[in-house]
Amino acid sequence: NTKILFVKRPTGQLIPNETFRITKEEFDTNIPDGHLLIRSVYLSLDPAMRGWMNDARSYIEPVKINDVMRGAVVGEVILSKNSKFKKGDYVQGTLGWQKYAISNGKDVSIFSFPEGTTLLQSQGCLGMTGMTAYFGLLDIGKPKAGETVVISGCAGATGSIAAQIAKAVGCRVVGIAGSEEKCEWLKEIGCDEALNYKDKDFAKNLSKATPKFIDVYFDNVGGDILNLCLRRLAFKGRVVLCGAISQYNEKEPKGNFFLFIILNFLGPSAYMTLISMRAKMEGFIVFDYAKRYSEARKQILEWLNSGKIQQKETIVEGLENAPNSLLHLFEGKNIGKLLVKVSEE
Ligand code: NDP
Repeated sequence: NTKILFVKRPTGQLIPNETFRITKEEFDTNIPDGHLLIRSVYLSLDPAMRGWMNDARSYIEPVKINDVMRGAVVGEVILSKNSKFKKGDYVQGTLGWQKYAISNGKDVSIFSFPEGTTLLQSQGCLGMTGMTAYFGLLDIGKPKAGETVVISGCAGATGSIAAQIAKAVGCRVVGIAGSEEKCEWLKEIGCDEALNYKDKDFAKNLSKATPKFIDVYFDNVGGDILNLCLRRLAFKGRVVLCGAISQYNEKEPKGNFFLFIILNFLGPSAYMTLISMRAKMEGFIVFDYAKRYSEARKQILEWLNSGKIQQKETIVEGLENAPNSLLHLFEGKNIGKLLVKVSEE
């Protein structure tokens, strides 16, 4: 079995060969009663993984040193001593960065989406990514038809699904991403405008693209882009705080050093528009919506079938490449959902 262990907490920039260690050990098929042996097929790579490495208060415990790195997997049951599962079932769960996992059956669920859906979708628009986009946009952002929705990190996994949901509910969508290629793709999937934040005229372009200001800003990146969008908020605008990837590897403050030492937090500075525009900002964690996942899946499936949503993936081959590939998220090398193919479907 190949496992990737989390061996050292990074401070600031993630350095894969310091943070992780790859181990190979004898493959043991001797599993206890009630358990199953699972062969991992796709491992999801997520920006949140960087947060799980910090020894800090959060919505989930940090990964422990020398544990298998945490990660969501879809895989095939190759041996079952649990009556609820049989050999050949596909299951999903937080099985970690390893080729084979042993589960007691309580931490996995059978992948049983309707005909025509794929394992890749189970890790994307029908998985956590889709749930995040759906509840973040609709439940927190509450967009109404005709409103302007701006989405950062828009060519990534969550952003691209959120953009298509916003179009499906009748909004005008402005996507923000880090390359011309990504912006072209955003137009193809229906964004009314797509802006490259690396363009020197980005701030001007954002103003031009939002003549009626921003009703909903779905924020995946934080930092300067959040600040610029705060300044463009419309009356009663809503800011959905989904993530802040631009900040996850920051060790040093970009603003006031002493405040950073006290608060250990990098926050937006242009928040005063919230007052003048009677606007609000709200964070959320997708897990809080677990009871409503089936509602979201049903709706996303309908949109998939009617062509209103499409999913794109960037797939990396081989578990050994997971540590270096995690950096792709921070370097913008992925379009759509980033996954590691651990073994054949
Ligand atoms: P993505 O597929 O969107 O990948 C991350 C993308 O972020 C990259 O492709 C890159 O694209 C962009 N990016 C990286 N660094 C920067 C930067 N400094 N400034 C601007 N953009 C940057 O990942 P996910 O869809 O998995 O996650 C998106 C966000 O959603 C993350 O912030 C994540 O933490 C959050 N999230 C929140 C959840 C919740 O429950 N609240 C659940 C799941 C995810 P580009 O080329 O455009 O720079």
